Amino acid sequence: MDLSPANRLEKLPPYLFAALRKKIAEKKAKGVKIINLGIGDPDFPTPDPIVQELIRAVTDPEDLNRHRYGCDVPVSDLTRAVKDFYRRRYGVSLSDEQIAITSGSKDAIVQFCLGILNPGDLAISPQPGYPTYNIGHVFCSANTYYLPLRRQNAWLPDFTEIPPEVASLARLLWLNYPNNPTSAVADLAFFQTAVDFARKNNILLCHDSAYSENTYDGYRSPSILQVPGALDTAVEFYSLSKGLNMTGWRVGCVVGNASAIKALKLVKENSDNGMLRAIQFAAVKAFDNLERLTQPINEVYQRRRDMVTAALMRAGWPVEVPKATIYIWAPTPGKYNGSSAAFAEDILEKAGVVVTPGRGYGVTGDGFYRISLTYPDEVIREALERIVEVAGQ
Ligand SMILES: *Cc1c(COP(=O)(O)O)cnc(C)c1O
Repeated sequence: MDLSPANRLEKLPPYLFAALRKKIAEKKAKGVKIINLGIGDPDFPTPDPIVQELIRAVTDPEDLNRHRYGCDVPVSDLTRAVKDFYRRRYGVSLSDEQIAITSGSKDAIVQFCLGILNPGDLAISPQPGYPTYNIGHVFCSANTYYLPLRRQNAWLPDFTEIPPEVASLARLLWLNYPNNPTSAVADLAFFQTAVDFARKNNILLCHDSAYSENTYDGYRSPSILQVPGALDTAVEFYSLSKGLNMTGWRVGCVVGNASAIKALKLVKENSDNGMLRAIQFAAVKAFDNLERLTQPINEVYQRRRDMVTAALMRAGWPVEVPKATIYIWAPTPGKYNGSSAAFAEDILEKAGVVVTPGRGYGVTGDGFYRISLTYPDEVIREALERIVEVAGQ
């Protein structure tokens, strides 16, 4: 049968790095040993106390519900742990109506859009930025206005750049700090400006805090919900994936505006069945011990961060040392005239190293590339030596 897929799939943007992926496959076929520093997926294990709690819960002979649909037998302690965490860390008090437990943020972003956006609606996404926001809009037949992030503004958006007609039509605005791909951080004063803009224009602020725990040098990232009144204007997408090496576990939550949370819960009730109870118990362990468990993880990333930035600077390429995230976002070396694609292709061709060209995240990402720190030290070290040898001439 010749099946034609739904029209909405045609509107999906082409896979950002399709050309690069093809080239990687060609190189591998020729037997070239490729080092891929392109993907942000932690390489070392989830902290043991979380793993042990999963094993305990999944084998607990007393828990007769341990195999059941997680939505039918939710672990109420997980909601309690989320509340305790938000109060302890941010001084933010949440009620049950302001919390939805999710199977990670990527899934939740799309489900959230389905609960909020109508066909033809307008939503605002940062550029460069995480592609899933726009994909959520596409699945709802909504349109995206791209809000540029620029280096001269420390990769924070300037809300005064948004045309008044866009501001008055838009229903959602996505933000993400600490930021992927730029590693920029935002302070509470910036979040206050965002909340003021959103409130004035009746826009729901959606803050993706995927990297809130990946912080260094004593830096602590704020929650947008710390801004007075933000619980009415904003939701925050929280995830255990990046901070606790738990990408495969699929656990997070969305917290904030109660009407938006209600819409998300309705989509979830009608499209998924929740998560395994043992994962919920393990997530309680993670939230209750978060600061203690993230510390050794961050020591590893901080060491790799210092290694990468020092190597780039030794090569004569200035780079900012980020306070957060698992990425180094660096300007492409001078001889590539600001073309991140030319740089990425050249080092793949001649050095067998994959980095993510900033152009893949939108035009305003060009001139930069992203290195992920989720690879063993010696792999990163070898990749950098190869890059410097090729691009430094
Ligand atoms: C990795 C990432 C996510 C997805 O995290 P999950 O909770 O694992 O789905 C969301 N947003 C950004 C910006 C990310 O980089």
